[in-house]
Amino acid sequence: MGIINYTIVTLGSHSALQILKGAKDEGFKTLVVCTPDRIALYSSYQNFIDEIIEIKSWDEFPKLESKLLKKNCIIIPHGSFVAYLGMDENKKMKVHYFGNKKVLDWEDNRKMQREWMEKSGIKVPHRFRKGDKIDRSVIVKSYGAAGGKGYFTARNQKELDEKLKTYEKERFIVQEYVIGVPVYFHFFYSPITKKVELMSVDKRYETNVDSLGRIPAKNQRGLNIEPSFEVVANIPLAVRESMLADAVDMAQRVIKTSQKLISPKGLFGPFCLETIITSTEEIYIIEISARIVAGTNCFINGSPYTYLLYNEPMSTGRRIAREIKDAIKQNKLKEVLD
Ligand code: AMP
Ligand code: AMP
Repeated sequence: MGIINYTIVTLGSHSALQILKGAKDEGFKTLVVCTPDRIALYSSYQNFIDEIIEIKSWDEFPKLESKLLKKNCIIIPHGSFVAYLGMDENKKMKVHYFGNKKVLDWEDNRKMQREWMEKSGIKVPHRFRKGDKIDRSVIVKSYGAAGGKGYFTARNQKELDEKLKTYEKERFIVQEYVIGVPVYFHFFYSPITKKVELMSVDKRYETNVDSLGRIPAKNQRGLNIEPSFEVVANIPLAVRESMLADAVDMAQRVIKTSQKLISPKGLFGPFCLETIITSTEEIYIIEISARIVAGTNCFINGSPYTYLLYNEPMSTGRRIAREIKDAIKQNKLKEVLD
């Protein structure tokens, strides 16, 4: 079947505009599913969105299953799929899905993710287990892709115990707070070419932690401000080339390990290594995002790094569509779908 017979579909949020623009540039039909409050936004892009299906709330998405099957749709998952639909609903749907659903468990469960990172031989912040003595500053993180929502920091055991008393999340981890700068490396692994491509790099603009420095410490005293890490936007970066070498090396190891742990396919398609780089140039990986991350939205028209590989604007969204197109041409579609 030629690509004309497939429709690329995603939920209207996160990186949908990038995904659908990329799909259209590669010649696919496009469809967005969204809630009423977003109709105005998506209907203003009729140049690359062919169809909009409205649902009252995100949890109605699975009800569209037979309709999407009839249209021969391919779902491109992004940060909203697990956050809004939940893991089980997401896994149950029979519509073609770009990616490996088995990776979802390894992404969502922080303990499994840690095993994956440790087996890849990459540096991770120290994790404290229940009952461990807290001997440094820590950050408490809930499970799943939540854009930094509901995280908090504590300077010592006493502060941690105090804050946990009122913490509502059931599943969380306590991790060493690494002092450095956050840097997010975006990659794409192609099971067809068997290559890891560096797509782009961003940093996040998080409220309120990124503006605490605007108020000098002496003026903050007494205000009782707690840092929070909720992401508002993303900022493009060009990273020191020597650090790129390390990042690419880590990405290759993460992919190789995934092929053993999540055999046989492992992780493929877009992913992100979320790092904190310290003043001694050590790169700590705080998380692997096994899907397209919103930081790639800075590069809908391509990035300095994709320019090195492609003589045309290549976003991560477009790269996904290109992979599907190449797979169709080579009769390997099964290799990239779940
Ligand atoms: P939204 O598109 O804002 O509805 O977000 C969907 C999910 O992705 C939520 O869990 C967000 O917290 C997360 N998210 C959205 N934008 C970003 C971003 N720029 N960086 C990281 N996570 C994000
Ligand atoms: P994450 O959800 O893991 O991407 O983390 C969201 C934000 O929390 C990051 O961009 C950092 O600002 C902060 N953060 C998470 N983990 C750590 C850590 N171990 N040390 C310092 N900051 C962290």
